[in-house]
Amino acid sequence: MVPDTLTNHADSYPHLAHNNGRLNRPMAHVMIQLVKVCKEYSVGKTVQALRGLDMSVEHGERVAVMGPSGSGKSTLLNLLCGLDEPTSGIIKVDGVELSSLGDDDRTRARRVKIGMIFQTFNLLPTLTAVENVSLPLRLQGSARCEAEERACAMLNRVGLNHREVHRPDELSGGERQRVAIARALVFRPPLLLADEPTGNLDSVTGDEILNLLDDLYREFKSTLLLVTHNELAAARCDRILTLHDGQFVKEERLAHTAAKSL
Ligand code: ADP
Repeated sequence: MVPDTLTNHADSYPHLAHNNGRLNRPMAHVMIQLVKVCKEYSVGKTVQALRGLDMSVEHGERVAVMGPSGSGKSTLLNLLCGLDEPTSGIIKVDGVELSSLGDDDRTRARRVKIGMIFQTFNLLPTLTAVENVSLPLRLQGSARCEAEERACAMLNRVGLNHREVHRPDELSGGERQRVAIARALVFRPPLLLADEPTGNLDSVTGDEILNLLDDLYREFKSTLLLVTHNELAAARCDRILTLHDGQFVKEERLAHTAAKSL
């Protein structure tokens, strides 16, 4: 069994309680917590992809991570979704340290806690839209009928009820991304990780996808971490963090957020 929420050990990491200058925030509000996270790759020589990252993202925040190629964005995403482990440091998602879990529990935790949206959609080409969206539910043990009912409801929510039995190659880029978003949200995960979700779309379709993500983020009361080169996409977020050579070098809190909280 995966505990839904493990205790947050605020006493062990007192500097996190001071995060972003907001003193004494209850640690239970933290959705993503990184403490001195390092990731090294050994390929003949050692590459330090992440160099002691500290980061805290609260429930309900939208955070964009930007940075040049090679700065460590993909490495960070891989660690956050539990596909890889840090060389040192601690990563917690919704209070759970994924690397402390066994393989089965980690897979299950990843499935139910984290919805992933990719630049290249990552749909299975031989499956229809409804089969792609219901796949995570089927892998988690849901009966086909129930899984497909939930998948249809999600496809309906993203505006694709007329495309349920189409395969990815019968869909436009924007429609494929809508299927991928429906799949990412089918468990109503508390955390959405989006990797350049508009990178393969024209600007009008990209805008529609960002509008949809905005709506769903609010409706599902999720937390969104968006990796992007797109400044307009990043500007929709509450904060922008800039990575450079495996370290955060800049944090920008956006004015629309400040205005909202007045
Ligand atoms: P970004 O996503 O910002 O382009 P990456 O996280 O892919 O950056 O890469 C960060 C650094 O880690 C780069 O120097 C890259 O070459 C290196 N790196 C990434 N993945 C691997 C890997 N599997 N093996 C060796 N080096 C890697």
